[in-house]
Amino acid sequence: MNDEKRVYRFGGDEQGRDVTEGSASMNYVLGGKGANLAEMCRLGLPVPGGFTITCQTCVAYSGAGDVWPLGALDEIDEATRDLERRMGRKLGDPDDPLLVSVRSGAPFSMPGMMDTVLNLGLNDEAARGLIKQTQDEHFVWDSYRRFIQMFSDVVMGVDAELFENALTEKRLVAGVKSDAELSSGDLFELVEEFKGIFQEHVSASDHPELVVDGKVMFPQDPAVQLRLAIEAVFGSWMNERACLYRKRNGIPDDLGTAVNVQAMAYGNKGDSSATGVAFTRDPASGENVRYGDFLINAQGEDVVAGIRNTQPIQEMGSYPALADAARDLERIFQILEAHYRDMMDIEFTIEQGKLWMLQTRVGKRTATAALRIAIDMVEEGLIDRETAVRRIDPAQLDQLLHPQFNTHTAPDVLARGLNASPGAAVGEIVFSSDDAVRRAGEGVPVVLVRWETNPDDLKGMVAAEGILTSHGGKTSHAAVIARGMGAPCVCGVEAFRIDAAAKEVHVEGTDVVLREGDIISIDGTTGIVVAGAVPLKRAELTGDLETILSWADEIRLQPGSTHPYHVRVNADNPEDAELALGFGAEAIGLCRTEHMFLGDRKEIIQSFILSDDEQERQAALDSLLTVQRRDFLKMFKTMDDRDVVVRLIDPPLHEFLDDPRSLEVRIARLEAAGAPAEELEALKARLRRIDGMAEMNPMLGLRGVRLSFVFPELPLMQVRAIASAAALLIRDEGLAPKPEVMVPLVSLESEQVQMRSICEQVIDEVAAEYGVALDIPVGTMLELPRACLMADAIAQHADFLCFGTNDLTQTTFGFSRDDAESKFIPIYLHNKLLERNPFETIDEGVLELVRMAVEKGRSVKPELTCGVCGEHGGDPESIKGLFNVAGVDYVSCSPYRVPVARLAAAQAKLAEMA
Ligand code: ADP
Ligand code: MG
Ligand code: MG
Repeated sequence: MNDEKRVYRFGGDEQGRDVTEGSASMNYVLGGKGANLAEMCRLGLPVPGGFTITCQTCVAYSGAGDVWPLGALDEIDEATRDLERRMGRKLGDPDDPLLVSVRSGAPFSMPGMMDTVLNLGLNDEAARGLIKQTQDEHFVWDSYRRFIQMFSDVVMGVDAELFENALTEKRLVAGVKSDAELSSGDLFELVEEFKGIFQEHVSASDHPELVVDGKVMFPQDPAVQLRLAIEAVFGSWMNERACLYRKRNGIPDDLGTAVNVQAMAYGNKGDSSATGVAFTRDPASGENVRYGDFLINAQGEDVVAGIRNTQPIQEMGSYPALADAARDLERIFQILEAHYRDMMDIEFTIEQGKLWMLQTRVGKRTATAALRIAIDMVEEGLIDRETAVRRIDPAQLDQLLHPQFNTHTAPDVLARGLNASPGAAVGEIVFSSDDAVRRAGEGVPVVLVRWETNPDDLKGMVAAEGILTSHGGKTSHAAVIARGMGAPCVCGVEAFRIDAAAKEVHVEGTDVVLREGDIISIDGTTGIVVAGAVPLKRAELTGDLETILSWADEIRLQPGSTHPYHVRVNADNPEDAELALGFGAEAIGLCRTEHMFLGDRKEIIQSFILSDDEQERQAALDSLLTVQRRDFLKMFKTMDDRDVVVRLIDPPLHEFLDDPRSLEVRIARLEAAGAPAEELEALKARLRRIDGMAEMNPMLGLRGVRLSFVFPELPLMQVRAIASAAALLIRDEGLAPKPEVMVPLVSLESEQVQMRSICEQVIDEVAAEYGVALDIPVGTMLELPRACLMADAIAQHADFLCFGTNDLTQTTFGFSRDDAESKFIPIYLHNKLLERNPFETIDEGVLELVRMAVEKGRSVKPELTCGVCGEHGGDPESIKGLFNVAGVDYVSCSPYRVPVARLAAAQAKLAEMA
């Protein structure tokens, strides 16, 4: 016997006593919406009564192939009867009917993903009953037509446009602009027309239970309506757009959604009624001001659908009929913030002057707002610094480093809209999501231009650089989703008269017509739209980010029970080093010397590799020594007394050589043009040498430390360049540079032993030459499984260990990064063979190798410094594992990731101390 509780009540009983069974902590059972409805009831806030069907019921139902678990329907039936008793009204009652909404609510908020049905319980008889009760035919027929419309669309999958078209036609015939202006007679007619559409478009074979006298009928039995609606919510958990949203946001598929059945509050009962959405603070700037929109005499999604123009929440109090409700709302804002200690997002309805709360959750916000709110709340004493640091999503910080318009003069503004999601974007105009996906797939940046977006546009929004809508406010679908994705978005550009079918926009007040493929620039931080391409620049760290990061540094650098968590940068030139210092890097964890060989220096290294002439080779080496020393001088000076870990030359040599195929073509051309035989012969000889160096698997070939044994002059030159640069700075400028030498791709202890003695010899020579003391540690880069397995042996000859987790991932899996990410990793992800791309987030197997190697290394040298300098060093999830599981001392990442890594390291430290 299964006695799992499947239904939880919320709200008051007949006597108004609270009978709520759930609470905010029951997120995984009741979903976010249900759990917070219960919590608001517990806080004594006005919430229409109802009950929540658990997420586990959805999982059981879906898992069994859309079959109800035993007893669940009875329990729902019982809860429905109970709700009728509590509300003193019955579903379908011909005198005074109860109406409910059926609302989905998953454990994680999924804006716009799941559908809600309002006014459920209406049928022909109940409609008459409701008219008797309210004496308001307009309201009743409006509610009934809305119900048929939503039920048909959401539950039965009838094309919503059919209803919209009928509505539009009705408005035209009646000569009115908005639905609210339709007469009750119009609305009554619409109800009949809508039933007709239902009848025509629902198939009898799919729904035999709806067939009466051989025809499909709109279901009149509220119990049938309710069951179908709940099943539809369960079904929507697995619909395409919900799955896509979950995938993008890393939400597991097996959580299920809860269903909330709740007595209706009517926002469409005349001018003392309204509906709205609000945030307790500004979710774009974080400023401590109320923020939101409301609509008088409207219901539900009207506000976010952007169908009618909404009013700012601040203006609500100026309507006498809404003034009391506005005051109550302000009080509730305060209660909610004090209780949740966070910025909250709420949905409410006012029914004839009385305020009802319909939803609350922690509000989504831009990165800018997240910082501002966290800092303000620390100052207000609502939260402590650790909570503030924990609350900022490191991935979201990226937004702050988002591009902005890079212009000295103000750009030539074509139109203005609302600054709905920050950052600037430039791209070709596209008018549909499909076009966005197609063009973006061809590598062309696009800006999606729409009247308003809906959940079906998600793919296009993901593909686009930026989004522009001509309608809808800051809480519209486009705005909410764009902010969630961190994509730039400008909403409500009213001057844009979009003709999506003709693929053009007329800009009101100008004679400008923009067509598909024209370039526009949008700035979601200011709401500005510009024709043509505006140059973009990356943003700077703001004061708020500095503050949060300084708090993060206090946390991650404290010795505490574990070691400090350090953040270094991968930088190959003084400019990157400078940038990274500004971003708070403590040292250079990886300086790749081969990047110093690119550009015009490529020829020098080529003549070293390819020449047979000893003198020529020596000359090449001498010039390399000169240029490298110059680079190191600048680098060490920039970094002053901070560590700079320099890696000896690493990549396969062919990366510096001409591509043999283009060389072949060049020879053939010259031959055809009758070039002198001598020139041709020289080129052919060069081609033969390059061909002779070709390898089947260059990534597993002559690279890393192996190069140093095949071309012993190279490491001698490089170490000399490093040591002499340091020596010069010490001797001539009194500085204290701290270079370190790192040997790449070591697998054998003997490789490290020999390399180290070579390095030390050069260092000693240079020290003697310049008459200074040089202390330059020589460490090993661990990036092969064998090296990790033998880390204790290797560590005896290494001053530090640093893991190159990119190569270590390649070699642990035997995945070639160059191919795997395009050839099969996507399929592995899709088939759930892999949960995440191991090149983005460190794999647990690779992490285990790192952990083991650190342990082995420290077993012979307890104080051994261990770090990581792969791309994983900038990935928050990997950072947590590397510090907390593997126990490394630092991560090193690219300059723009440094702020992210500082925050992620602090959060890892907090998790470790918890
Ligand atoms: P979403 O998850 O898309 O926000 P909701 O379940 O919150 O969907 O429903 C959308 C809107 O429908 C709500 O913001 C509210 O305006 C309206 N609504 C839902 N339930 C009720 C109700 N019981 N009474 C009045 N309006 C409701
Ligand atoms: Mg919705
Ligand atoms: Mg909602």
